[in-house]
Amino acid sequence: MTVQPIRLFGDPVLRTPAEPVVDFDKELRRLVADLVDTMRDEEGAGLAAPQIGVGLRVFAFDVDDVVGHLINPVLHFPDAEEQDGPEGCLSIPGLHFDTKRRRNVVARGFSEYGDPVQLVGTGLMARCVQHETDHLDGILFIDRLDRAQRKLAMKEIREADWSGETSLTIKVSPHATRGLAL
Ligand SMILES: [Zn+2]
Repeated sequence: MTVQPIRLFGDPVLRTPAEPVVDFDKELRRLVADLVDTMRDEEGAGLAAPQIGVGLRVFAFDVDDVVGHLINPVLHFPDAEEQDGPEGCLSIPGLHFDTKRRRNVVARGFSEYGDPVQLVGTGLMARCVQHETDHLDGILFIDRLDRAQRKLAMKEIREADWSGETSLTIKVSPHATRGLAL
């Protein structure tokens, strides 16, 4: 088990689109294990590889006791339904804002062994999958907020005690994280 430090807002790796996985090898399986271990240690609902400094299209999730990972995800939206609710990010600790997402998603990708996987998600799982896939494109949830909310978020980030750091092992108390940390 290797818990990796979480990269924080301001670290360029979070703004760099990740590369597709080509080799489904031992190293990839180590990355998946590190993602799952780090996500659990931080009590997150999801974690994408760039958040631990790796520019590959891989994320892990832990939603409603369903734990897994997805590699090279491609998202499809079966309908136009939306949801709005609190969202947070382990790379932007302490911030939670209501974020609009699609309610239903079908994610196609691969397992760590290269087997095709389809993940059908609704509600929180759909939110998680969209948030993590955004990470792989260099997009953060605050980018999804409207102008006024984003301004507020940027102010909170500037005033946060971790502001200016780019990598920390953060211990987030479960009491402090109301909502979803992804
Ligand atoms: Zn995140």
